[in-house]
Amino acid sequence: MAKETDVYMKSWIEVSGNSDFPLQNIPFGIFKTPGGPARAATRIGDTVVDLHAMAMKGFFDGLNIDHDLFGRDTLNALIAIGKPAGRALRLRIAEIFEQSNPELRDHPGIQKDILFPAGSVQMQMPVHVGDYTDFYSSIEHATNVGIMFRDPANALLPNWKHIPVGYHGRSSSIVVSGTNIHRPKGQTKADTAEFPEFGPSRQVDFELEMAFITGRKTELGQSVSTEDAEDHIFGMVLFNDLSARDIQKWEYVPLGPFLAKNFGSVISPWIVTLDALEPFRVPGPTQEPTVLSYLRTEGDHNFDVQLDVLIQPENQPEQLVCHSNYKYMYWNLAQQLAHQTVNGCNINVGDMYGSGTISGPTPDSLGSMLEIAWKGTRPVKMADGSERKFINDNDTIIMRGYCIKDNLRIGFGEVKTKILPATS
Ligand code: MN
Repeated sequence: MAKETDVYMKSWIEVSGNSDFPLQNIPFGIFKTPGGPARAATRIGDTVVDLHAMAMKGFFDGLNIDHDLFGRDTLNALIAIGKPAGRALRLRIAEIFEQSNPELRDHPGIQKDILFPAGSVQMQMPVHVGDYTDFYSSIEHATNVGIMFRDPANALLPNWKHIPVGYHGRSSSIVVSGTNIHRPKGQTKADTAEFPEFGPSRQVDFELEMAFITGRKTELGQSVSTEDAEDHIFGMVLFNDLSARDIQKWEYVPLGPFLAKNFGSVISPWIVTLDALEPFRVPGPTQEPTVLSYLRTEGDHNFDVQLDVLIQPENQPEQLVCHSNYKYMYWNLAQQLAHQTVNGCNINVGDMYGSGTISGPTPDSLGSMLEIAWKGTRPVKMADGSERKFINDNDTIIMRGYCIKDNLRIGFGEVKTKILPATS
């Protein structure tokens, strides 16, 4: 059987050197072709591979996976087959598309029902998200926000280095890349004003995040240890957690984020498995003081994922505004899931867990406009001469994420959304 970790393994499908989707990636998504139903897919280079068609034609017959699971409009049931079966599926896909394998390579008549140019299909939400949590796990981001809004001398609140701070968000407004979002309306209050006003937010922002998706459920009362956490995590996506800073500032005391955060969060369409990210594991930052025992982890649980954010004004070229990395996360995903469940909170397949804004230690690695433009005091100059403190109407926000090591590049593609004017 093929080994998908072999960096020299090549596909008979063309994969360019800078592609996020070599044969070692094999991500999972849901797609539609014009007039066709939503179904499961993977991607190799710029080719989308219809996994339902492959299952129906018998390519996965040795795996004992119900064909119907590939024909659903979400991946939840397919993910629920579990890690060993999912691993066997990825290896079988890699084997079929490995350059020396003639099973499908030499049958163009069958290929036309299975292979589609990426540009010709429409990607859908890959999972039904039952529950969504957003953490706040970047120490650089939490420190920057603390400096701006509280006290530079005590930027981190006393709990921050002891608890992976998070909140329960709203899943109904998590949408897939390419979905455009209207500028939200809501209550804001200027510092100098006596009363709040209602209208379109003036401070729409992005938050550069990644999110993991759980692939295994637990029962109420059960906790997941840091040691077992990754067995419950299927994979990751890029996550743009759109935020309205002026609404947030007025509403968040005392119960935290609400309408400033639930008008749209946008994800990349391909779920990259933790198996595919394995070669890119790195140690996280030193945690000092020592964390409580239920949060301790052994080994490396951070991943070296380079992250870019670009803003593209209408009819203008895209412009890089941030280059960060997932490896900066203070709290890792195993700690986040252990904390989420330590009180007995149950989790389900398809639940989503945002990392929180991923800022790095340098001025070019800040993961939100709030930080990049430092509360509006350091506007970003755009190529057309305009300035940005936050996001303007008809600006498109693009995030890309990719790992590179030796000769291997594994990526997430992109998450893209345009901010439309507020509805009237
Ligand atoms: Mn967030």
